[in-house]
Amino acid sequence: MIRLPISGVRAHWRPATGTDDIALADSQPGLAGARAYLARIALLADGTPLDAGTLPVGDLDLLVLARRRELRGDTLVAEGQCEQCGSPVDVQFSLAAYAEHHRPRTSRRVTGAEPGWYLLHAHEVSFRVPVVADVLAAAEADDPRAALLARCVRQPLSARAARAVEQVMAILAPTLRAEVAGSCPECSAPVLLDVNVRELCMSELRFFAASVYDDVNLIASVYRWSQNAILELPSARRRRYADLIAGHPAEQPLSGVGVG
Ligand SMILES: [Zn+2]
Repeated sequence: MIRLPISGVRAHWRPATGTDDIALADSQPGLAGARAYLARIALLADGTPLDAGTLPVGDLDLLVLARRRELRGDTLVAEGQCEQCGSPVDVQFSLAAYAEHHRPRTSRRVTGAEPGWYLLHAHEVSFRVPVVADVLAAAEADDPRAALLARCVRQPLSARAARAVEQVMAILAPTLRAEVAGSCPECSAPVLLDVNVRELCMSELRFFAASVYDDVNLIASVYRWSQNAILELPSARRRRYADLIAGHPAEQPLSGVGVG
């Protein structure tokens, strides 16, 4: 069970199947793809499906990060390029430490006016933290930034007030996109990589899930099970069968485990 730091929502996973893996492997990059992925497999504490559209973006980011940690471990490698000499640069870091560093904080510039809403004293405006559905809807507008503020702030904003609201939103509800510092292995110049942890983790989860195609191919070839029967298996069990087969010489296929 994970407690999401911004909303306080508690969530967990149901066991993934091959059908979930196919959906993930074929999903599109971006926030909408991450929302669709979580809508499939994330559950609230009471077992009902989680509507990821209602989460602050930072909470969705954290859920994706937690899923990647669970399946692939805590260490992430971000890749970039040195601006001085053009060499490729890898920066390795702990996802848990990264999430801790970017956790939400409180701000004395606001008070909680009513549930879900904050009052920014200096500008006398009340706002709420943008959720995933706000960001996706605003992305369709001609001016996504203005559209997002219009959805989440009650009063019309001056340019200064808009900047102040955005600053305090980033404190109360940070996303997990940030710069990570490293150094160039060739020229030792300091390097700052713009790291979108959610998209890096989603891209790895997608890549990992795509092994479902190889697994189906392997298991169907040896056991003669139907595609649907294989896809309905929990992913962990399917991988175990595939590993068993891969560990056996092709001329000695496993026998007696067919399901018709
Ligand atoms: Zn360099």
